Amino acid sequence: MSKILLGCIADDFTGATDLASNLVREGMRVVQTIGVPQGPLDGDADAVVVALKSRTIPASEAVQQSLEAARWLKAQGAQQYYFKYCSTFDSTPAGNIGPVTDALMAELNAGFTIACPAFPENGRVVFKGHLFVGDVLLQESGMRNHPLTPMTDSNLVRVLQAQTSRNVGLIDHTVVEQGSAAIKARIDALAAKGITIAVVDATTNEDLRKLGPALEQLSLVTAGSGVAIGLPKNFGLEPRNLASSLPPAEGRRAIVSGSCSVATNAQVADFKQRGGAAYPIDPFQLLENPSSVEKALRWAADADHSLPVLIYATADPDAVKAVQQKIGVAEAGELVEHALSSIARGLVQQGVGELIVAGGETSGACVKALDIMQMRIGPQIAPGVPWCYAQSPHAARGGLHITLKSGNFGATDFFTSAFTALEVAA
Ligand code: ADP
Repeated sequence: MSKILLGCIADDFTGATDLASNLVREGMRVVQTIGVPQGPLDGDADAVVVALKSRTIPASEAVQQSLEAARWLKAQGAQQYYFKYCSTFDSTPAGNIGPVTDALMAELNAGFTIACPAFPENGRVVFKGHLFVGDVLLQESGMRNHPLTPMTDSNLVRVLQAQTSRNVGLIDHTVVEQGSAAIKARIDALAAKGITIAVVDATTNEDLRKLGPALEQLSLVTAGSGVAIGLPKNFGLEPRNLASSLPPAEGRRAIVSGSCSVATNAQVADFKQRGGAAYPIDPFQLLENPSSVEKALRWAADADHSLPVLIYATADPDAVKAVQQKIGVAEAGELVEHALSSIARGLVQQGVGELIVAGGETSGACVKALDIMQMRIGPQIAPGVPWCYAQSPHAARGGLHITLKSGNFGATDFFTSAFTALEVAA
């Protein structure tokens, strides 16, 4: 096995896939691991993304897990490291972006690093240090009401400064637009003033590509997934099909949907409208009838094996609220996740070889139920959503193609077009 080039640590699961997908598009062969692996990497890759679930856990635990990931990546030969967080900079004054950045800088002997959540393709841009979400400032976006990480200040220099004892500065757009030499000079000037972390402005992919070469000498980069598009070139890599090639897909096709987002509701409706075979899961039925999961699996076994099947708990906000009021929010979530992940495992045991999972938490539960430890990242279906190939002890052929779609991603016809995208890639 050859050494890896870029070692990445992501603070949540679907965010890890998003980063991996951007690296694949730019020519890297990427493997995503679920947590820190126990042994060495299985197979060759240019980059590895270790997916943690460390965004909202206590800061000391996030630091511990991130350091463990960095040490494992170091053992795989990583030449540069990337700490990936959300493009809305999800954090609180207690962390976890600042404390994890501090700990990784110390571990990796990084004298200087950047912080840049910009992802212009998804409407996240940084201008004069202020983060915009679509057309509004972060503090005016829905993120201000986030239950765990409410973002009430758009000034990222201020937000990050509250989380670290290091001095935080800014590399603004007037420098970025001049290109990588100017950015490098600005890094040197800030470092000479004792500033060791700089928020960087970026409003377009072109800005991110100018930033890339300026980051070559940094041992650690901290960012959303956008900055990744400028890094593979530093290692002499160019976009190439080989990077996203996966083994040929085989087996039945299925969709398991536990997301109740606006986008997923539309995707379920679209699949049904096209005449797709669909089976609803009712949370009240799950409570009352312990054999609901077996019933759903029997339905799938009896369905036409040449066509995809959809099993969904996806419901509109009123229906979800009714369930939550009766059972409790966390309890309802767990009940449905447990049922859907058992169904995903049962479907794979039945011979499903191409599986779409909709929902971030639902994806985490399904990957766990399938005992998937790592995934090779393949072609992109929609921004942030690639097909992946994973080994699972539950798969008849040992492995399966799987895509994990977080709530609001994907076009309305995603449940149809995703399978077509895999055929085209073959
Ligand atoms: P998203 O990516 O859209 O946020 P998630 O899977 O992360 O999707 O979250 C959706 C949550 O809603 C999960 O915990 C899931 O189990 C739960 N859920 C799904 N369907 C229902 C339903 N009909 N009633 C109540 N909760 C549901």
